[in-house]
Amino acid sequence: MTDFKNRREAMVDTQLVARGIRDPQLLAAMREVSREMFVPPGLAEFAYEDTPLPIEAGQTISQPYIVALMLEAAEIQPDDRILEIGVGSGYAAAVMSRLGRRVHAIERQEELAALARNRMAQLGCENVVVRTGDGTRGWPENAPFDVILVAAGGPAVPRPLREQLAIDGRLVIPVGGTDEQRLMRVTRTGDEEFFEEDLGAVRFVPLIGAHGWRGEEKAVVAPRTAAGDWLRDAAERLPGIDDAGFAHFIDRFADARVILLGEASHGTSEFYRARAVITRRLIEEHGFTIVAVEADWPDAAAIDRHVRLRGEPAATAAPPFRRFPSWMWKNRDVEAFVTWLRRWNEGRESTRRAGFYGLDLYNMTGSIDAVLTYLDREDPEAAAVARERYACLAPFGSDPASYGRMAISEGYARCEEAVIAQLRDLFLRARAYEADEGDDFLDAAQNARLVANAEAYYRAMFYGAAESWNLRDRHMFDTLKFLLAAKGKAAKAVVWAHNSHIGDARATDMGRNRGELNIGQLCREHYGDAARLIGFGTHDGTVAAATDWDGEMEVKQVNPSRPDSYERLCHEVGQEIFLLDLRDGVHPEARAALLEPRLERFIGVIYRPETERWSHYSTAILPEQFDAWIWFDRTTAVTPLPGRQEPGARDTFPFGL
Ligand code: SAH
Repeated sequence: MTDFKNRREAMVDTQLVARGIRDPQLLAAMREVSREMFVPPGLAEFAYEDTPLPIEAGQTISQPYIVALMLEAAEIQPDDRILEIGVGSGYAAAVMSRLGRRVHAIERQEELAALARNRMAQLGCENVVVRTGDGTRGWPENAPFDVILVAAGGPAVPRPLREQLAIDGRLVIPVGGTDEQRLMRVTRTGDEEFFEEDLGAVRFVPLIGAHGWRGEEKAVVAPRTAAGDWLRDAAERLPGIDDAGFAHFIDRFADARVILLGEASHGTSEFYRARAVITRRLIEEHGFTIVAVEADWPDAAAIDRHVRLRGEPAATAAPPFRRFPSWMWKNRDVEAFVTWLRRWNEGRESTRRAGFYGLDLYNMTGSIDAVLTYLDREDPEAAAVARERYACLAPFGSDPASYGRMAISEGYARCEEAVIAQLRDLFLRARAYEADEGDDFLDAAQNARLVANAEAYYRAMFYGAAESWNLRDRHMFDTLKFLLAAKGKAAKAVVWAHNSHIGDARATDMGRNRGELNIGQLCREHYGDAARLIGFGTHDGTVAAATDWDGEMEVKQVNPSRPDSYERLCHEVGQEIFLLDLRDGVHPEARAALLEPRLERFIGVIYRPETERWSHYSTAILPEQFDAWIWFDRTTAVTPLPGRQEPGARDTFPFGL
């Protein structure tokens, strides 16, 4: 419950206030009305997203911002009599019931009217009456109205509605075609005088009735867009991943210092295999020696020990990648890459070997153990102090989120000082330790840094999604910078992380509406063109994903991409695999045509095809998000490594299953 309250507050601040909605009564009302009650039960968790949602009878509940925009334009006064046409879910009516004296609401579909009536009763909105009927005729018995609000788009302003408006009354209505309308405010300034203002472009479901559209809405066929034609010209066909030439295209980006390779899901084999082949070429031909991935540092460190032949892990070390979602790294494609990487390193001196590192911060206990193991060996006295400091976090070991919850309720960060003191101590004594063995110190120092950042991360989780997301991506970026610095001036890195981390956040909803940044954006800001961001996409196929966090991995069917997405444009190119070079000046027409924002699909470790539009699509500007985009029309799920190792068998080392 509190969670919905927090989301509602965040919705008002980031979607309404940030976009200029100012009316204090309206903002207060929208902070109060439980929007989750107005959507079908399966969609409650998306109720505060910045989007319209489908409701019963094939209709939609308007995006919160659009509701706010219309109600602000209506300038509702406490004594006002209001007519609403197109009640839909009843959400706007419930908000208006808190702003005016009485709301008369008409809905064409009885199913919706009945649901809305129930919700009004539940919420105690006694000043709202809902009836079924054709709202384009108005409600003459109760006219005139100070405010008329129409939540469906008609071809023109219905005559009866003008007539039922009081002098000085405001009528807010979308007017135009069935795909797009202009939001109009009509103020009645005299008996026959009306003042009209255009408030901008909007998209509403059709207003159907005697003074609206006739009959059911006609199916809208998406026109073949110019963007599609330009895209077809710009797409460079690529051979299959296993073909010797597949990765040659990367040469044109190889003068970069950091190349970030994305993925459109956390469970697609093609994305892993393509990134492996590209990375191989960057290592073999272009001197890259750092592979930094969206995995936890201590877990990736076990792989790194193996591939750089740094010796077996401590006997006590826990096997890596046991946490959900294990298939992300414990899969056949990663295994094949790790095998190759070790073989590549075998013939090389240690300074020229390529390493495998984790950018993520979820395994806090793994990092604590690693710091203690290191100090036990190097400096037992310091180990005793560290043990005492980290004991502060011990009670939350298996559930670090509970630490964050406690920190909020106690009002202070109980373990913050201890973890920072530990990090500082380790760096103060760096010289003494480093003299012994460079990489083991580097590893311990990074683990200590991770514990400090994770402590802050788990606290931030309770302030809101944006804060914790940003802390996590900053941590990833700091880890990358730290690696590049540690490996010297000429060092170059390949990063593997989800499109949502590596595609410049400023070109997506995350950055534009939610205040989130990511490692791709930070790399661009810091390295300019010496950072290249490469995204991946797909139309359909299968994917390995869970239905809920901590759930079992399933192989799920990926829905064909939506007609209004970048993916659909790519699908219509008609090529199985292609590269789109989005750098400035390479394909200027295609780039310009693709600048118009569209939906883009993001599948993570969770995939819910049933609610795909709201769980997985978000608006983006592809050419600003990435320097290049690699397309696999059809893709397949990764194959996880088997869950258990035979006693004594070591052949799956370093995964230690
Ligand atoms: N503000 C509502 C939006 C509902 S969508 C919400 O946020 O939930 C518009 C609604 O208008 C649909 O439910 C549709 O059935 C209804 N509608 C369309 N034509 C109508 C008409 N002539 N009279 C009354 N309702 C109509």
